[in-house]
Amino acid sequence: MECKEVQKLITKYIAKDMNDKELEHFLNHIENCKECYEELEINYTIYAALMQLDDNPGASYDMSAMLLEQLKASKKYIIRKKAFEQFKNALYTAAMVALIIVVIIQIRLWI
Ligand SMILES: [Zn+2]
Repeated sequence: MECKEVQKLITKYIAKDMNDKELEHFLNHIENCKECYEELEINYTIYAALMQLDDNPGASYDMSAMLLEQLKASKKYIIRKKAFEQFKNALYTAAMVALIIVVIIQIRLWI
């Protein structure tokens, strides 16, 4: 993904309005590109500040730390999602095999 593309996705990331594929590419880029990370941090800070005006006036938070937390959570989500996909595929294969065995047994019982 190119910087231009990534920077277009920043607001989507902050709004958590991204599909998993986008999220994965986005995170990979952000981890390795200082420029885009800074862009994200600026946008996130503004967004978080605006949200806090609504939620909790007067509270102060460390926006950089909050962003790091969110990025960590996103990364974990992607890793878990991938593990889950693999698990699901394995399970699906096992289910298909079981189904075929059941069908074969049924056919033999009928014949
Ligand atoms: Zn970049």
